[in-house]
Amino acid sequence: MKLGIISDVHGNLEALNAVLKEARDLMLICLGDIVGYGASPNECIELVRERASFIIAGNHDLAAVDLIDYANFNFVAKKAISWTRSNLSEENIRYLRSLRLTLSLYDFFAVHSAPCSPESWRYILSPDVAEEEFSCFDQNLCFIGHSHLPFVIKKSRDQLTASFLQEMDLEESSRYIVSVGSVGQPRDGNPAACFCIYDTDEKRIQMKRTIYNANEAADKILKAGLPFNLASRLIHGI
Ligand code: ZN
Repeated sequence: MKLGIISDVHGNLEALNAVLKEARDLMLICLGDIVGYGASPNECIELVRERASFIIAGNHDLAAVDLIDYANFNFVAKKAISWTRSNLSEENIRYLRSLRLTLSLYDFFAVHSAPCSPESWRYILSPDVAEEEFSCFDQNLCFIGHSHLPFVIKKSRDQLTASFLQEMDLEESSRYIVSVGSVGQPRDGNPAACFCIYDTDEKRIQMKRTIYNANEAADKILKAGLPFNLASRLIHGI
């Protein structure tokens, strides 16, 4: 079976629509942060609910419905969260509040941030940080979002290595943490929407990039009165 793993949509309907079109034949799993930053939070929640078979919560989803404190978010993120909070429908608030933090499915584990303490919203950005995280899930494979960067950390015996390859065959004797990148706010200098395809039979990971109309998404952000930087970063993929 081929799975599409999406994360960090962040209210960007234009990017989400483009990814859903490309992933139309895949069973979808969403790793959270459906809202925050972008101008279409309700539409994104409704579309993800309709299309994804499994959905877990991200920190922005929970901050937008008062389930976590966002005092330590930066100024721009705080502004976006309070805008999102006041624009969400009651039904969508209820829905975000109902989301779980982790998922075990087939042969993998999934969490928005980090397996050892999903609610601490730790960033896994390098093999050093990943080391202890491998002890907190039983499977050989864990998918994460949160950093908005696509990469793979592999553990073979006691060796940890990172890779930015777009395709990778998973070895049976190794374990992996796969960061699937961001649909709605990529930060690796490539503005194209990013998601991951996992072929459960072939044991193959593929990072996909989908070009979408980022100018339109950026314009909506400006029209909504959200910070300029949230619009301009979509154009640059930062
Ligand atoms: Zn995010």
